[in-house]
Amino acid sequence: MPPQSDSLSDAGLCASCRHARRIESAKGSDFIQCTLSRTDPSFPKYPALPVIRCRGYERLPDPGEVKTKHPK
Ligand code: SF4
Repeated sequence: MPPQSDSLSDAGLCASCRHARRIESAKGSDFIQCTLSRTDPSFPKYPALPVIRCRGYERLPDPGEVKTKHPK
């Protein structure tokens, strides 16, 4: 099971990174997916939170804009 986050503020750097996607499970849990993992396997698909240091970090212009992916 991916590491869960009660809120994006618990996610460390991922909370303001353009590569982060917030995933909401069908059961209502939230977790962070790192989209860099799609092209670089050295990045975990589901990072252990909070992320304190990350070489892939790129700050969003507006840190409140981390996209949410809802279950289908
Ligand atoms: S690049 Fe690093 S900081 Fe950004 S989403 Fe991935 S793990 Fe989080």
